[in-house]
Amino acid sequence: MPRPDVLETLVSLAKRRGFIFQSSEIYGGTGSVWDYGPLGVELKNNVKARWWNAMVRERDDVEGLDAAILMHPKVWEASGHVSGFSDPLVDCRACKARFRADKLGDAACPRKPSKQPGEHADCQLTEPRQFNLMFKTFMGPVEESASVVYLRPETAQGIFVNFLNVQQATRQKVPFGIAQIGKAFRNEITPGNFIFRTREFEQMEMQFFVEPGTDMAHFERWKQDRLEWLLGLGLDRDRLAFHQHTDKELAHYARAAFDINFDFGGTLGFQEIEGVHNRSDFDLRQHQEYSSKKLEYVDQANNKRYLPYVIETSVGADRVTLALLVNALREEAVEGEQEGRTVMGFHPALAPIKAGVFPLTKKDGQPEMAERLAAALRKRFPVFYDEAGAIGRRYRRQDEAGTPFGITIDGDSTANDSVTIRFRDDMGQIRVATSRVAEVLGRYLEADHARADSRLVE
Ligand code: ATP
Repeated sequence: MPRPDVLETLVSLAKRRGFIFQSSEIYGGTGSVWDYGPLGVELKNNVKARWWNAMVRERDDVEGLDAAILMHPKVWEASGHVSGFSDPLVDCRACKARFRADKLGDAACPRKPSKQPGEHADCQLTEPRQFNLMFKTFMGPVEESASVVYLRPETAQGIFVNFLNVQQATRQKVPFGIAQIGKAFRNEITPGNFIFRTREFEQMEMQFFVEPGTDMAHFERWKQDRLEWLLGLGLDRDRLAFHQHTDKELAHYARAAFDINFDFGGTLGFQEIEGVHNRSDFDLRQHQEYSSKKLEYVDQANNKRYLPYVIETSVGADRVTLALLVNALREEAVEGEQEGRTVMGFHPALAPIKAGVFPLTKKDGQPEMAERLAAALRKRFPVFYDEAGAIGRRYRRQDEAGTPFGITIDGDSTANDSVTIRFRDDMGQIRVATSRVAEVLGRYLEADHARADSRLVE
């Protein structure tokens, strides 16, 4: 049974709650570009920070980099993007719509009743032609062919051209990696499915340089490591699957490639969120040839020099964010209440807001005590203070934002200096001394835990 299609529900929740807005909405929007609102930017930043920690800070064999978006145009000749980074495009002469020839099965003709392109009697599809996906612009004031530059369609090339700079500056020995997070741009023929395929997006890429012959062992290890990382974000195990590239899908230089697919539900179903690739020495060899600069690694201990092979892990920050939104959305009935609740069950470490702080009433010193507590907690966690409306409504608003903990200041709080902590997932409550709230929340966050569990409080 396919999982339900939740994209439409998510698009409206994302707008209402401030996760994601359509870019330039007041002008009718751009359709393929999205802006992250207050909750969305926290969520995506948490994803990126978690990746950076796992890939760079917690390892001593991967170095960080932040290369520029604009690069020398020859980079894209060497990498093969100028001649080969294209998708097959077909036009319909009847309705003027454009489609990716290799994805016609997933596309819809704009005319009603809804059919696939080519299925209406008067559809007139052209033969496919290659359409380059790179955005072109000009460097400097003169718009001429000599000043053409491209917005990078991937971050990887910034790493390849800096391979020796990083290796020499850090004195790393092969095997080692270089990682970076940054924007990439692709003039996709058919963007869509919310933030799944956009024309401007963020990639988190790591290139691991290894001695030829050891590459497949490293490849297998990275495949497993990357799956573990995605599982650690709280994505359901049965929504994740490896897809091995067939001979037809495999790039001519690639020795092996696996996608990690996530089940987005509905007609989208299982789709790539990350790729793990064995790129051989293709990129370094190409850059060596086009730049006429030697890019070999010198292994002094073993008296060898060679162009390393590269194992690449490439994951989209936006696609992972969409996977997290899809995975987190729950609509559930609540015992004893007519209205159900919508919960974004994010892993607590990724949740945009960690705790809501609520005075039960607006009197008896409760708001003052709650504001003091919120201000103290804000030094450690993103916290939301809310005194408006019935307490049940306030809990519901935070459930929908994915906030794992709700702290309530009630009549007893001012008397005995204690508060309740309510847990988003099981709605259980515990009472703790006000002075211990930060420590208790810290324990839950460290344990990646959003359910009432007394072991974490003692
Ligand atoms: P697809 O087949 O979906 O076009 P791809 O195989 O070209 O993707 P890669 O070049 O391997 O993708 O890019 C690595 C990662 O970058 C993808 O797994 C995805 O998470 C992300 N990505 C690629 N293109 C887009 C896009 N247009 N919008 C958002 N994320 C993208």
